[in-house]
Amino acid sequence: MMNGETSRPPALGFSSDNIAGASPEVAQALVKHSSGQAGPYGTDELTAQVKRKFCEIFERDVEVLLVPTGTAANALCLSAMTPPWGNIYCHPASHINNDECGAPEFFSNGAKLMTVDGPAAKLDIVRLRERTREKVGDVHTTQPACVSITQATEVGSIYTLDEIAAIGDVCKSSSLGLHMDGSRFANALVSLGCSPAEMTWKAGVDALSFGATKNGVLAAEAIVLFNTSLATELSYRRKRAGHLSSKMRFLSAQIDAYLTDDLWLRNARKANAAAQRLAQGLEGLGGVEVLGGTEANILFCRLDSAMIDALLKAGFGFYHDRWGPNVVRFVTSFATTAEDVDHLLNQVRLAADRTQER
Ligand SMILES: *Cc1c(COP(=O)(O)O)cnc(C)c1O
Repeated sequence: MMNGETSRPPALGFSSDNIAGASPEVAQALVKHSSGQAGPYGTDELTAQVKRKFCEIFERDVEVLLVPTGTAANALCLSAMTPPWGNIYCHPASHINNDECGAPEFFSNGAKLMTVDGPAAKLDIVRLRERTREKVGDVHTTQPACVSITQATEVGSIYTLDEIAAIGDVCKSSSLGLHMDGSRFANALVSLGCSPAEMTWKAGVDALSFGATKNGVLAAEAIVLFNTSLATELSYRRKRAGHLSSKMRFLSAQIDAYLTDDLWLRNARKANAAAQRLAQGLEGLGGVEVLGGTEANILFCRLDSAMIDALLKAGFGFYHDRWGPNVVRFVTSFATTAEDVDHLLNQVRLAADRTQER
């Protein structure tokens, strides 16, 4: 045994990528920066270094504000992009619409989320154009303010660069801000194989919630502003919301380690590769129907209900029947190993054989 890793029992959890721990590099960075003094509230050298790294990664000047959760990143960003009487256009399946307990509405003093449907949790461009032109200037109606898209989406699909640019054009033509919820930014980026600049500001994105927690960080996310004029307002909003960390160096240490030596990209490649391995293993198995393409680290499939029961009984963790009868969602992470995937596949195979015997 080389390092004890091989003695670890296979992981059974495939419910989400936030059940994973953190990369050792990130944990070690926290210990490394625990000694000595550093300026508080983001006045430290490490926080300045993180900003420089983001400028390099995005090939331009950006403003960066670190916060502890993705909900804070999204809701704070959006609150600076809309007046209280504004409309925020988003997909019905979006995290801001379903999973943030009204934080965008709360932080924005009551701006309105307007949902625009479309396949694979992506905004339909034609409907978006129509919706953002309705009742403009009507004092009785909330007014178009900004659009929020998720990359990768909540179902693991990915906007192409052309699709983002088309949404960017709609925003530009109506003077709306464009926000990107990049909780799984790295997973989308390595899947598309493009540059961070191409996937954001070059396609018209003004503000990004740059996710890290789901991909190897303990607890830190970055608001990255391409429209840097939002920074001053956001800095007051972050403090007022109680999200200006006094020992900011510890958020910065996590993000710094995450961005060092491409850890963020390496982790995302591992997560996506695990999902690909799972998809390939599931293809062609009796009683299994893989749904949609597996573009990032989230996979949907339809399983026989007896198979779902058998897998749950065997101790596997995953969500099912939320997206339709017998629809199962498996999520992989940077920490999911090939052995973990093969262990799941073996159990699926066993369950399938047993189901077909009956
Ligand atoms: C996980 C997630 C977030 C952030 O959630 P927090 O629990 O607040 O960190 C934001 N958007 C999407 C799409 C997510 O999946």
